[in-house]
Amino acid sequence: MFESGDSSGLADRITAMRVELVGSDGTLTDVESVDVLGALERLKSGCAALQAKVAAEFAAKRRAERAERGMSKRKQGEGISSEVALARFESPHKGNRLLGFAEAVVHEMPNLFARMLAGDLNEWRATILVRETACLSREDRGVVDRELCSDPATLANRGDNQIKAAAIKLGAKLDAEAMVRRARKAVANRCVTSRPAPDGMAYLTALLPMKQAVTVHATLMRDAAAVVAKGDERTKSQIMADLLVERVTGLATATAVPITVNVVLSDEALLGRGSEAGYIPEYGPAPAGLIREWLHDDDATLQLRRLYVNPDTGALTAVESTSRGFPKGLLRMTRFRDRICRTPWCDAAIRHGDHIVSVEEGGGTTYDNSAGLCEACNYAKQAEGWSAKPDVRAPGELHSYTITTPTGHRYRSTAPPLETPLRLRIRNHSQVERMVADILTAA
Ligand SMILES: [Zn+2]
Repeated sequence: MFESGDSSGLADRITAMRVELVGSDGTLTDVESVDVLGALERLKSGCAALQAKVAAEFAAKRRAERAERGMSKRKQGEGISSEVALARFESPHKGNRLLGFAEAVVHEMPNLFARMLAGDLNEWRATILVRETACLSREDRGVVDRELCSDPATLANRGDNQIKAAAIKLGAKLDAEAMVRRARKAVANRCVTSRPAPDGMAYLTALLPMKQAVTVHATLMRDAAAVVAKGDERTKSQIMADLLVERVTGLATATAVPITVNVVLSDEALLGRGSEAGYIPEYGPAPAGLIREWLHDDDATLQLRRLYVNPDTGALTAVESTSRGFPKGLLRMTRFRDRICRTPWCDAAIRHGDHIVSVEEGGGTTYDNSAGLCEACNYAKQAEGWSAKPDVRAPGELHSYTITTPTGHRYRSTAPPLETPLRLRIRNHSQVERMVADILTAA
């Protein structure tokens, strides 16, 4: 997935130490096993502290260097957390949190940092303390840091919840108003999200102010109970779910969903001969039998698109589309090919069709030069010192491109292979690709 840049002497020594540890696999006694587990746990905490220190110093140095060149304050920080994310094999979203955590620990919580370094406090428990003191002033945060972390005995043997409670209690004592402000601010984070569940199901989650959530739930319970009382055969839980769908969509019954769902499956599976799973973009695989059932459901409108896939590699070759408009067809094809943001380790949904080499730098609006990115990655990629270039590939090979960060580290992004290869009776795949290119450019 990635290639390292110039590795420093320290990185080499750490790697050598890890290799040595992995190599020392002699048989351990029971006592030794327990000792090793504990020692490794302390090592992990110490490593997390060092990662925080290195990340915070890296960010400070980069900002100072950019400030010296007269860059605006907003631009000084651009892309840094994404560099941290790539270096730590994490999503840009997590990279942002990790850098915020690192800066808080290193600059504002020296005692917490010392506890991590000593192996007394793991990264998660340290994160809880940083998170629960985020609304406090720097001075108050310093007080919490001193009171809870200066003496190793204070938090010794305390679990996650006890540590969280200790931080909240002390925070409220120092600045009750800040805690209330924080609760009020949380309302701004209300949202509705959806993610796949097993067996062709999905979770619809709403994060709401507690009062509203309780009201919605109580209303559904009350009305479902009334339906059950009339002798409905469904369970109360089922009726609650159906009522939710009916009320949100304004439809008479929960099964009459008129929204177009893109389903990707091979012709074999569609005709009932194949048993491979179909694929619903942004949700994942669904059994072919289930999709066939949906097709026969008169209430539902399903839009089908067939994908043409190289049977050997799973590389997307073409998308059958009623709309062949360019670049709309191209964007659709890119989305089908990439499915989720193409930045390594990023799980976010695609929001943008992105030119890998920007138009200003001579990049074309082509299938090879396009990548689906989430909003954050699209933004990070435009930061100073970042560049990207499509890799040269043979016909039928999975699409890939290489990202270069300001430090010269390179990371390769390869499109995921598709799961539903259609058995094409064509041996010459480059011929198919040429044909598709013709269709796209002719439209
Ligand atoms: Zn992303």
